[in-house]
Amino acid sequence: MTAQIIDGKAFAARLRERVGEFAASFAEKAGRKPGLAVVLVGEDPASQVYVRSKGKATIEANMESFEHRLPDDTEEAGLLALVEELNADPAIDGILVQLPLPDHINEQAVIAAIAPDKDVDGFHVINAGRLAVGQRSFVPCTPLGCMMLLTDRLGDLSGLEAVVIGRSNIVGKPMAQLLLDANATVTIAHSRTKNLPDVVRRADIVVAAVGRAEMVQPDWLKEGATVIDVGINRLPPEPGKEKGRLVGDVDFAGAQQRAGAITPVPGGVGPMTIAVLLRNTLVAAHRNAGIDLSEDVV
Ligand code: NAD
Repeated sequence: MTAQIIDGKAFAARLRERVGEFAASFAEKAGRKPGLAVVLVGEDPASQVYVRSKGKATIEANMESFEHRLPDDTEEAGLLALVEELNADPAIDGILVQLPLPDHINEQAVIAAIAPDKDVDGFHVINAGRLAVGQRSFVPCTPLGCMMLLTDRLGDLSGLEAVVIGRSNIVGKPMAQLLLDANATVTIAHSRTKNLPDVVRRADIVVAAVGRAEMVQPDWLKEGATVIDVGINRLPPEPGKEKGRLVGDVDFAGAQQRAGAITPVPGGVGPMTIAVLLRNTLVAAHRNAGIDLSEDVV
């Protein structure tokens, strides 16, 4: 069997376009564009790249982008004061504080300061709690993007066996909640799981969110399984090359011979994350302005 490639890049491009159209009609109704504020503290090169591409994507989706770049030695109190300002600003619908923050700042305190209705990353405990009890919330972008790819490919997930590898607050746990809400039978595996290959072998759906290059081996997969690879890992550079290749948590070449469908790295889950961030911002804008939006259409 040769797996179908799940083209997250193309799916994300379509989602971004749809979000852009809805954002334009929001602007006509509300007299302003949806606004996303992104806060970056420090000089982390990867974070700088993320923030730049989020800003560009926001503008392309007919939204207003507000960037706040603060120096590495910013005090926690200063960052909290900025978050308060953004909470109170009616031009801003979504607030994203780029993680990780410098060590002297308490990340949880900063996330807790974001107004839950502007928490488009879905990291605030109120939104995590709402997701856990099945109330309307903001869902973290990466797992929501994975879910969109899964339902697009499989339709109804009822009764399917799903194994999520990884239990982080931003990927593994919300992913498991979403699969459970969709009536899958869900197992969360993690670093202490015994016999991981056997656990993965029973899965119709495998979501790998670990951060270990090519850990999931082809013979761990049930024939025909749908594999969503969240991991982003850079291999050491080959001789003569400056940078190593990016790979996921799944041995892609081998898995392609067993799975029914699989996301590539890059070009699978990665592009979905920004697209869903824009989607969440669009939803926040409608909720904040009291304008109806059928949230299923985006
Ligand atoms: P994390 O480090 O917070 O969590 C990793 C999880 O993997 C932990 O829960 C741990 O229990 C589990 N784990 C570690 N070793 C394991 C092992 N040997 N066997 C089974 N489980 C094991 O990471 P995270 O933030 O959830 O991210 C996971 C990966 O996804 C990383 O590669 C990250 O770069 C990537 N990621 C990608 C996107 C995207 O947009 N595509 C977004 C977020 C994270």
